[in-house]
Amino acid sequence: MSEKLDTKYVIAGRSKKWTKGVVNPPVQRASTVVFNTVAEKNHAMVNRAKQTLFYGRRGTETHFALQDAMVELEGGAGCALYPCGTAAIANTILAFVKTGDHILMVDGCYEPTRDYCETVLKRMGIETTYYDPMIGEGIRELIRPNTTVLFTESPCSITMEVQDLPTLSRIAHETDITVILDNTWGAGVNLAPFEHGVDISVQAATKYIVGHSDVMLGTAVANEKHWDQLREQSYLMGQCISPDDAYLAMRGIRTMGVRLKQHEKSSIKVAKWLEAHPLVDHVRHPALASCPGHEFYQRDFKGCNGLFSFVLKQSDTKATTALLDGMTHFSMGYSWGGFESLILANEPRSFNALRTIANPNFKGTLIRVHIGLEDVEDLIHDLEEGLHRYQDALNA
Ligand SMILES: *Cc1c(COP(=O)(O)O)cnc(C)c1O
Repeated sequence: MSEKLDTKYVIAGRSKKWTKGVVNPPVQRASTVVFNTVAEKNHAMVNRAKQTLFYGRRGTETHFALQDAMVELEGGAGCALYPCGTAAIANTILAFVKTGDHILMVDGCYEPTRDYCETVLKRMGIETTYYDPMIGEGIRELIRPNTTVLFTESPCSITMEVQDLPTLSRIAHETDITVILDNTWGAGVNLAPFEHGVDISVQAATKYIVGHSDVMLGTAVANEKHWDQLREQSYLMGQCISPDDAYLAMRGIRTMGVRLKQHEKSSIKVAKWLEAHPLVDHVRHPALASCPGHEFYQRDFKGCNGLFSFVLKQSDTKATTALLDGMTHFSMGYSWGGFESLILANEPRSFNALRTIANPNFKGTLIRVHIGLEDVEDLIHDLEEGLHRYQDALNA
């Protein structure tokens, strides 16, 4: 499709084949699919991997519509659906490794991704080397004859380093290494994965695709070369999702364009306000020059969203608690990408467990915020009061 992105949000996955005369693809619930003739059954058998009704685990028309929508948004040859983002990551890596292999993992990856490498992959005899997110051309020195996967997440979780994705992909492809991107922050649209050499783009659709903090969902969109293997591996691992969740994900997509624009506008405003605050050491927002890899953000991304971090000048648990406990609009909670604002703090020592070779060694507490769709002045006021409480607790 050649339509502009704002149009794609509206039309993605809504071909007449799935909608059949209503606006939204209906929720089709099924385990058993019934055939009237042997010929029908045989046709379904032959085409079961090609969006033809066969058996519930292979998906129903609601799932096919969402798969189409994801491919129309991200590009690629096909989309596998998973019950959460973590399942998408685990199953995508598993599809391209075997015992004795070695994988490269960005040091700033989402924490459960690291835990998966250190437990499941390790037990299977697959070794992981963590690389500095800013390594660029240096990745070449870490590649071994048995390296089969390069997994990246840009920007990194919590510390927000943006990476030189085209360089990493180009070098990985010199030796046929599969490049997997956790594209949750880019929401599959602000970073077009296949334009930057990625083979498979994975998302926690739980975040911006769903957009309302009420569904767990994972997606993996693969290019032509990797699609068959990814699809069959996911199928054999029994990965499938409810059609109601698929429906809600498509509902989320319809408003994702306007939501992302609002998250972007408000988060940049809040980030700039924080940057000027005397208690703040620096802000890690990919759209601001103070963020490591900002130049790659400017070159490769089409926009940003509501998630970023800022680092305070000091680490003081009592003062941080005073800040967090009194917030009005920011709730403490995991996940992000919904309409609401969220806040979480990380003390510098917590990065000892989260980073192997690229610990930023912050002096002060890192606070990660998700800027929701509330009025931005209300959010700034909330943070201002919180930083007052922080200062008062420091003085006490
Ligand atoms: C939340 C998140 C995940 C995991 O998604 P779940 O749906 O919560 O399992 C993976 N990667 C990133 C970057 C995330 O933020």
